[in-house]
Amino acid sequence: MNELVFVSGASGFLASYMVKQLLHEGYRVRGSVRDAKKTASYAHLTELPGASERLEMVSAELTTPHAFNEHVKGVTYVLHTASPYVLEVKDPQKDLVDPAVMGTRTMMEACFGVEGLKRVVITSSCAAVTDEPRSDHVFNEDDWNTTSTLDRNPYYFSKVQAEKAGWSFVEQKKPSWDLVAVNPAMVIGPSMTKAINTSNQVFVDLVSGKYPAIVSLMWGLVDVRDVADAHIRAMREPKAKGRYVCVAESLKMRDVVSIVAANGWKKTKIPSLGLDSALGTAIGRLAAYAQPKGVRSYLQTNLGRELHYDNAKIKDDLGVSFRPTSESIVETMSDLAKWGHVPKMG
Ligand code: NAP
Repeated sequence: MNELVFVSGASGFLASYMVKQLLHEGYRVRGSVRDAKKTASYAHLTELPGASERLEMVSAELTTPHAFNEHVKGVTYVLHTASPYVLEVKDPQKDLVDPAVMGTRTMMEACFGVEGLKRVVITSSCAAVTDEPRSDHVFNEDDWNTTSTLDRNPYYFSKVQAEKAGWSFVEQKKPSWDLVAVNPAMVIGPSMTKAINTSNQVFVDLVSGKYPAIVSLMWGLVDVRDVADAHIRAMREPKAKGRYVCVAESLKMRDVVSIVAANGWKKTKIPSLGLDSALGTAIGRLAAYAQPKGVRSYLQTNLGRELHYDNAKIKDDLGVSFRPTSESIVETMSDLAKWGHVPKMG
C-alpha cells in the first residue's frame, strides 16, 4: 500500500504543487481545505492524474480545536502548509496570529501518538528568519526574526510565533516523529488556479503602476515548484533536521524590473524612474507613511537594505536545486497574462 501523506491547506498556491508532485510520485494524499463540500475550490486537484484513485479531500479550519485529529490517522507524513498569507488585515491577532499558531498547535497535538507517523514538515517562512535585512549579513537557519510584532509586520510575526509553537511542542512532548521546517522566501511561479497569491501580486503591481518608481528593495525569490519539491524531500530524507532556508536567489527590484521589461512587458506601467539612491530611499521612507499599515511597516524596515540568504543547507542535506530566478519571473509573468491578470506579452 502506498504511503499516505496529509497536506493541510491543500488548495493553496504552494500546497497544490505538493499535491501534484505527491500524486505523480505515487503517494496517497489526504488534503484539507476549509470546506470540502465546496468542490469547485479544489477542482484543479481532483483533475490531476492519479487523483481519482489516490486523493481524498477533507475539511479543517485552523481555529477549530481538534480539527486535524481524524485526518492524520494512518498517515506516514504530514505537510502542514495552511496559514493565512495576507499583508493587510483588520485585526492582526485574530486574522493572522491566532489561525497560524492555533493551527500549528492543533496539528502537533493531532499528530502526537499517531502510530506510523514518521515526520511532520511545517511551512514556515523567511519571515520567521528576519523582517529587517542587514546589508552586511547573510541570513541562515540560525537567524530568528526577533523584531516583528502585532504592529510591525504582523504577517511575519504570525510565522515566527507559529514556527516557535512547533518547536516548543516537540521540545516539551518529545513525540516519536520528528519535525522539520521549510522557510521559503517570496514564492513565485505559475499558479494552478486563477487566484493571485500575495507574492505574485507584486508582479501585477509592478506592471499596473502601483510602484511609481524603482526603489531600493531586495527580494529573496524562489519558484513554487522548487518549494513544493523541497517539502517532499524534507519529508522523506532521513538526514533532514531542523530548519531549511529555501531561497533561490535575492534580486534587487531594479533587476526584477529589467527582467520583466526585457521579456515583453516594457510597454506597461512598469516603473522607469530610479529612486534607488540614498536620497530616493529617504524619500521612500517618508512616502511610506501614506501607505496602508502593512505596506508601511514593510517599506520602513526594508527600503535601502540589501538582503542575502545562505541556501547551502537545503542544497547539501536535501539535494534541492533551484530553477534560474529569471526564468521563474518570466514564467510567472506569462502565467499571470494567461489568467488575464497582466497584459499579454507585447
Ligand atoms: P495561499 O495560497 O493563500 O495558501 C494558504 C492556505 O492556507 C490556503 O489554502 C488557505 O485556505 C489556508 N488557510 C488560511 N487560513 C486558514 C484557516 N483559518 N483555516 C484553514 N485554512 C486556512 O498561500 P501560499 O503562498 O500557498 O502559502 C502557503 C504557506 O506558505 C503558508 O504557510 C505561507 O505562510 C507560506 N509561505 C508563503 C510564501 C509565499 O511567498 N507565497 C513564502 C513563505 C511562506 P483558503 O484558500 O480557504 O484561504
